[in-house]
Amino acid sequence: MSKRRKRRRSRQDRNPLDDWDPKTHLGHMVKEGHISSLEAIIEENYNIRESEIVDVLFPDLRQEIVDVSLVQRQSDSGQQKSFRITVVVGNGEGVIGIGIGKAPEFVPAIRSAETRAKLNLTMFRRGCGSWECRCGEEHSLPFQVQGHAGSVSVTLRPAPKGTGLVTADVGKTVLRIAGIKDVWSIRKGRSRTSSNFGKAFVDALVQTFKMLPPQEWSMSGVGE
Ligand SMILES: [Zn+2]
Repeated sequence: MSKRRKRRRSRQDRNPLDDWDPKTHLGHMVKEGHISSLEAIIEENYNIRESEIVDVLFPDLRQEIVDVSLVQRQSDSGQQKSFRITVVVGNGEGVIGIGIGKAPEFVPAIRSAETRAKLNLTMFRRGCGSWECRCGEEHSLPFQVQGHAGSVSVTLRPAPKGTGLVTADVGKTVLRIAGIKDVWSIRKGRSRTSSNFGKAFVDALVQTFKMLPPQEWSMSGVGE
């Protein structure tokens, strides 16, 4: 991380994160370099409450819009419109987060969604769980997983190299930012917006981290 920050500093005069004044214990630990990975944060059961923590740990994080909805509601002062935007963030190397932001204007709604996605950042595993492939590279998922959000669910199955992302647009957006190239998917349920499908895809990815693959059982002591 220190190398990256040095490089950044030479490119632009100042890193805006130098002016960041952490408000949480975790924020201080990260800024001072005592914690330098998301894995350590999860292991210690910390909640990320400042998006700058994620900016420090993952300077190369990318983001994409999953869904944009215009919400209208009647109030005393007339009809009010507000944007409800879902954003997914990831680095293509095992971290992913999804967040929803609401605001009367488009740009603040995106900013809010981006911040929330960062606060929700979590880990998942990539791999090659396809018995037709077995190349051992991280182009797909290690095993089949299922994710849920609201009334929708999605099943993701490892696929051999060259399969591509067999899924509709929302799934492609999430999987692309996750750095996964080949996967089969089955979607169930209906949703008025794409937001829940996006969340179900992220939930499915996160299952790869929660569930240990069988080959790691003996190492973790599960099989003993
Ligand atoms: Zn493979």
